[in-house]
Amino acid sequence: MIVIGGGLAGLSAGVALAEAGWRVRLFEQRPFLGGRATSYVLPDGEHVDNCQHVTLGCCTNLEDFFRRVGSAGKIKFFDRLLFQDPQGRTGEMQAGLLPAPFHMTRSFAAFAPLTLADKRSIAWAMLDILRGKGRTADLDEPGGISMLEWLKRRKQTPGAIERFWRVVLVSALDEELGRTDARFGVDVFWKGFLSNRTGYRMGVPSVPLAELYDGCKAEIEKRGGEVNLRMPVRAIQVANGEVASVEFDGGRQESAEAYVFAVPHPAMAELASDEIRRLEPRLGDLEKIGVAPITGVHFWFDREVMTEPFVTLMETTTQWIFNKTALYGAANGTGKEKGQYLQLVISASYGLLQKPRQEIIDLCLKEVQQALPAARGAKLLKATVIKEAAATFSPQPGVDCWRPTQETKIRGMFLAGDWTATGWPATMEGAVRSGYLAAEAVLRSAGTPRKFLQADLAADGLVRWFC
Ligand SMILES: Cc1cc2nc3c(=O)[nH]c(=O)nc-3n(C[C@H](O)[C@H](O)[C@H](O)COP(=O)(O)OP(=O)(O)OC[C@H]3O[C@@H](n4cnc5c(N)ncnc54)[C@H](O)[C@@H]3O)c2cc1C
Repeated sequence: MIVIGGGLAGLSAGVALAEAGWRVRLFEQRPFLGGRATSYVLPDGEHVDNCQHVTLGCCTNLEDFFRRVGSAGKIKFFDRLLFQDPQGRTGEMQAGLLPAPFHMTRSFAAFAPLTLADKRSIAWAMLDILRGKGRTADLDEPGGISMLEWLKRRKQTPGAIERFWRVVLVSALDEELGRTDARFGVDVFWKGFLSNRTGYRMGVPSVPLAELYDGCKAEIEKRGGEVNLRMPVRAIQVANGEVASVEFDGGRQESAEAYVFAVPHPAMAELASDEIRRLEPRLGDLEKIGVAPITGVHFWFDREVMTEPFVTLMETTTQWIFNKTALYGAANGTGKEKGQYLQLVISASYGLLQKPRQEIIDLCLKEVQQALPAARGAKLLKATVIKEAAATFSPQPGVDCWRPTQETKIRGMFLAGDWTATGWPATMEGAVRSGYLAAEAVLRSAGTPRKFLQADLAADGLVRWFC
């Protein structure tokens, strides 16, 4: 069994297949595992994440994967999400005593950045999602409709759109509301905020991302498998309608009974030769799936400027500030100095792609100083900006029709990756789902079916009674 790509999709497929008794040989082009959800060491020795990654309580497959590889304890879950507007007004999302779907009622009622009219319009839209159990009739219109259109049809106030829907969904889905399929947006609220009390809980790694994958190699090697780094696949050889081998630098070829290609969709499009596209036409559509950017800004201050573990900002370029020093904790050594390390996240950061790094640093520093009074007197010791132009596939309306299933028409060829058909947007959860689905497809075709995909969080509270 050969797996190409050592991101979450390839790792989850590889670990699942190893657990099913297969000898897995994984090939990753880079010198480390984790793909887009990884971290590396800067020349000055500082560990930085490619970008802050978070998960939610409703991401059941990612949680299962971290448990399988012994990393579940490296994710810290938070029950309270804090929001702050430019005027300094704050709001929280935190489950109260009421059962779902009313568990957020108290914090929503007290949410200061929203007016009563905003809240009323949001409540009506939520009721619509609830009534349809996460579906509304217009989601099935041909070609899909954008989230912005969905909100306009439900007469959302400008304040509700800017200060609520946009704030939650641009970060969750990495795309502007006008370019997001409403199906994904509605799903975030149904699975994360309405159907149960715990789906919204935010999980944040308490270690640099690369450390989450320490156990993967061991799981694969336990069954006689291997993890090969710095091994980019350059071509796929196909003969008689099946994969014959994959080719590496220097003409080295490797072959196996089955292959899981778990590379990003632009890389898969490059590997798909004319012959492959003729046999599996869906691979000719990959160019139709767009990409969206995320920018991470890292600040190291000479003193503590923030006590919360993270905060979401409204109506600013900076969307999230993560207090990395607090999240890692002194035990990890990052809290050894008196200073503080913050990481800022800007999703759908189209406007920053062409901007010089210093301009981004200046802009974000101003916003941090406005949001965190203690930062005004602090000295910025160093800063770095990481722009990911193709961070995720763009969840544009109708995108699902271009996402291929994990099983292909070419014998021995299986696909994994957040961009394959999972029903989920580009997330770590989507990547792991794709890996599990690919492993299930391999085992099915070998005549030894087994299930890895985990069920969604069950509805609870009052929602249970009408679902
Ligand atoms: C900046 C940023 C922030 C994000 N924030 C979040 C977040 O907060 N929460 C969340 O859930 N998701 C987040 N995501 C999305 C998440 O990281 C991805 O959805 C997920 O990691 C994708 O995993 P994957 O395995 O499908 O792809 P990848 O992680 O891209 O893995 C593919 C692997 O294939 C390798 N590869 C490519 N070509 C070849 C080749 N020819 N030969 C061998 N190997 C090859 C690559 O090097 C890579 O390691 C974020 C992404 C980015 C970029």
